[in-house]
Amino acid sequence: MSSFDVVIIGSGPGGYVAAIRCAQLGMKTAIIEKYSTLGGTCLNVGCIPSKALLASSHHYEELQHFADHGIEVSGEVKVNLQKMIDRKQAVVDQTSGGVKFLMDKNNITVFNGVGSFESANLIAVTKADGSVEKIEAKNTIIATGSKPSSLPFISIDKERIITSTEALKLPEVPKHLIIIGGGVIGLELGQVYLRLGAQVSVVEFMDRIIPGMDGALSKELTKVLKKQGMKFYTSHKVKEVTRNGNAVVVKADNAKGEEIVLDGDYALVAVGRRPYTDGLNAEKAGVKLTDRGQVEVNDHLQTSASNIYAIGDVVRGAMLAHKAEEEGVLVAEYLAGQKPHIDYNLIPGVVYTWPEVSAVGKTEEQLKAEGRNYKVGNFPFKALGRARASADTDGFIKILADATTDEVLGIHMIGARAADLIAEAVTAMEFRASAEDISRMSHAHPTFAEAIKEAALDATGKRALHV
Ligand SMILES: Cc1cc2nc3c(=O)[nH]c(=O)nc-3n(C[C@H](O)[C@H](O)[C@H](O)COP(=O)(O)OP(=O)(O)OC[C@H]3O[C@@H](n4cnc5c(N)ncnc54)[C@H](O)[C@@H]3O)c2cc1C
Repeated sequence: MSSFDVVIIGSGPGGYVAAIRCAQLGMKTAIIEKYSTLGGTCLNVGCIPSKALLASSHHYEELQHFADHGIEVSGEVKVNLQKMIDRKQAVVDQTSGGVKFLMDKNNITVFNGVGSFESANLIAVTKADGSVEKIEAKNTIIATGSKPSSLPFISIDKERIITSTEALKLPEVPKHLIIIGGGVIGLELGQVYLRLGAQVSVVEFMDRIIPGMDGALSKELTKVLKKQGMKFYTSHKVKEVTRNGNAVVVKADNAKGEEIVLDGDYALVAVGRRPYTDGLNAEKAGVKLTDRGQVEVNDHLQTSASNIYAIGDVVRGAMLAHKAEEEGVLVAEYLAGQKPHIDYNLIPGVVYTWPEVSAVGKTEEQLKAEGRNYKVGNFPFKALGRARASADTDGFIKILADATTDEVLGIHMIGARAADLIAEAVTAMEFRASAEDISRMSHAHPTFAEAIKEAALDATGKRALHV
């Protein structure tokens, strides 16, 4: 029987990054993955394929505005959805192959099969052909991720009533795509099909889309997506989803109890994700789960079994690839006797619609609830030369800073390239910058990043220069 210093169950961004860091730190490392490709949800059916389709559909959308730039396209412009999906798959395959390369390069043993605990130190790997191989693990990291969740009365048939996984490979552009859930995944995939010509309706239980983010971002994103043609039914509780042949009907009640009926041909259920521990036999190793099905962990991400750790979507906190990665590195370094630390307040959140949305730190709603004395700086993209040059004038940057110390408490953005711009905000907050610190740093002109400086100027005595 082979034995390892550390065995990682699950090869998503949490698991494979943990494996690399463990190997770098000199541990004999193995990783178990039940699917034939490495990379987990993120690489196979999450971050990467969704961004590939967003990029392709964005090109198509931009083409409609070429004439504004003096570019005349003659002849019919058509979408070949299958080719778009094939390209997405090629990106996924290449990225997943890259993870396999990294495993080999770092001498990490890869087991293909389902990993199940026999005890706290023994793991059985059940392979596709039914054979079982047992491996010994001094330490184990559970990185089994998550799966799409649904509502109890919805039966997902994976054809017309679908999850994000099927939405990444639809055989046709829907005529009317009804999205249940106005969170990140629903909106990103909704925008893909909206751009390709579908009518898209979003039904959201809460009173606003992207409910976890700052209210100003929800408001602006709603406005922009409405302008692009997306329809919203917020404060609506879905009560029935039925399929009849190629037709799908979604019924929901508004806050007053009045019913709406939406007729479509596809319904995407995007109501969140649930932690995945099926087949793991966690109890055999003495690993406790919470009431919500997450693996219970302490501040060191250690489970109720002292040699077993858990990271990523299967534990508490934001379900994000980069959060899983940070946790993978933390556990590896902790096992190596180091003293790593994660500041969860500084894990940024991003929505990859266009305009993009991103945020780090506290929202205005959170600061109000905490009773914190804060001030606000704003800067609209439409006042930015770079944004006008690119015709990307939607959105703004909002900086929240402590009213007394000027320390930046949160940065919230919606606009072109916000997904990349948020890195400046994270860096600033990691070093506990004040709004004035940011406002006094030179930002190249003309760039979208100038909006961060201007919002910081606005936060410190209303000194913004270009409004
Ligand atoms: C459509 C979509 C878009 C997304 N976009 C983004 C984005 O842009 N940015 C972002 O940060 N996040 C995004 N996410 C979320 C992101 O994918 C997850 O947060 C991330 O993948 C979590 O990583 P993980 O390592 O915890 O688990 P996962 O990536 O879920 O990986 C877990 C792996 O464990 C394997 N596994 C499970 N049980 C076993 C077992 N018993 N034995 C062996 N293997 C097992 C699974 O097969 C899987 O491969 C997106 C998700 C979706 C669905």
